[in-house]
Amino acid sequence: SHQVHIIGGGLAGSEAAWQLAEAGLKVRLSEMRGGGDSTPAHDSDRLAEMVCSNSFRSDDAENNAVGLLHQEMRVLGSLVMAAADKHRVPAGSALAVDRERFAEEVTRQIATHLNIEVVRERVDALPASGSTIVATGPLTAPGLADAIANVTGSDALAFFDAIAPIVHRDSIDMDVCWMAARWDKGGKDYINCPMNREQYEAFVAALNEGEKTEFKEWEKDTPYFEGCMPIEVMASRGVETLRYGPMKGVGLDDPRTGRWPYACVQLRQDNALGTLWNMVGFQTKLKHGEQVRIFRTIPGLENAEFARLGGIHRNSFIRSPELLDGELRLRALPHVRFAGQITGCEGYVESAAIGLLAARFAAAEARGETLPPPPAETALGALLGHITGGAEADTYQPMNINFGLMPPLEGPKTKKVDRKKLYTNRAREALAGWLERSEVVPA
Ligand code: FAD
Repeated sequence: SHQVHIIGGGLAGSEAAWQLAEAGLKVRLSEMRGGGDSTPAHDSDRLAEMVCSNSFRSDDAENNAVGLLHQEMRVLGSLVMAAADKHRVPAGSALAVDRERFAEEVTRQIATHLNIEVVRERVDALPASGSTIVATGPLTAPGLADAIANVTGSDALAFFDAIAPIVHRDSIDMDVCWMAARWDKGGKDYINCPMNREQYEAFVAALNEGEKTEFKEWEKDTPYFEGCMPIEVMASRGVETLRYGPMKGVGLDDPRTGRWPYACVQLRQDNALGTLWNMVGFQTKLKHGEQVRIFRTIPGLENAEFARLGGIHRNSFIRSPELLDGELRLRALPHVRFAGQITGCEGYVESAAIGLLAARFAAAEARGETLPPPPAETALGALLGHITGGAEADTYQPMNINFGLMPPLEGPKTKKVDRKKLYTNRAREALAGWLERSEVVPA
């Protein structure tokens, strides 16, 4: 018999199983692949299969937020990081791996661990009792997705992420943009980027010519169009379409001209810290490089730095900021925790990191203790904080770890290069303090 039931043996579920087992708890890990089921993206029975790229992204813990997350996970004895380090392939400063050897390594370590029982089965319902971690990923099987929607309400479970790009606030030129709400309603909540006719028409032409990514075959039959049509599709319907849609200029007095701009791009605050802003209505299937090139032609965004670019993918995730508590427990059903991409983090590393934290919280709970959350200055804490409350619930979209999720730096504004080091140095100190306070046993 087991003490914790983990559903899903992907990046998050594997890491969670390892952490719990190493903490001395008995784990049942249910994985449907190898039991007659699969997802449209996986093509093996191995645990922790990487479905697309073979990269865990930057391994630079001094200057990069995901590199910092790698380092924090290593300190906490991460299996995913250990297997990645063991099977890394040359990729400059990035951590790329031989994906088959990596997944074989994770599978072997899990399968041979005395505290873990791997069961190749599909789970279609949330267990009625007993500590549970749901880590079924962006392609959660439909039966379980329905069961989750029954508890959360169907509007709290998304099946597509129609992502509008998110911009770092400090890269927006506020000499060009200004803060205001349309018709002066409800405060000055939006950042407005004004466009004249020439700029607008050139922008629409660029959208029409820009290179797009195709939908995958299995994504084609899922409806997504209500309310989240890609901007390039709108642009293709006629030169005026965007000007009557997300790029309306009406009701926005530009303080420099005293008039409404011909067209306008609006950005809305995306996190509680106010460091990240999303481009309203700008979901897109344009290729990432094209987005950067085209969106930097928007007045005020010439030097924009993007915390994430737009996209539209099949991706099930729950509206975590309102559904989960600070320990990743479902408020409505507190014996159930969520971990991995289904919580709305984005990426292999982030998914594994949230698996690690869910397991640490569950292990503490099993011992009758409470683990304090890692501080928001750490990569782990920043990611957790975003998922469990920092993000706006209504516009919640999956996100990679980035410095914008951490509390802003205090003191005078420094050069970008130096700022990164300030963030990572601060994070290391905060992690050390947390390890001490919470008596977390590092690897
Ligand atoms: P997964 O790794 O998908 O694991 C979930 C597991 O649960 C799977 O093994 C699945 O078989 C199992 N499962 C599902 N439902 C059930 C059920 N009812 N019962 C039992 N088992 C179940 N991230 C990157 O960093 N880089 C990329 O290049 C990248 N490419 C992606 C491409 C695609 C097509 C998709 C969909 C996602 C991609 N991601 C990528 C995002 C994300 O990082 C990965 O999906 C990552 O694997 C998520 O980890 P996870 O553990 O949450 O989910």
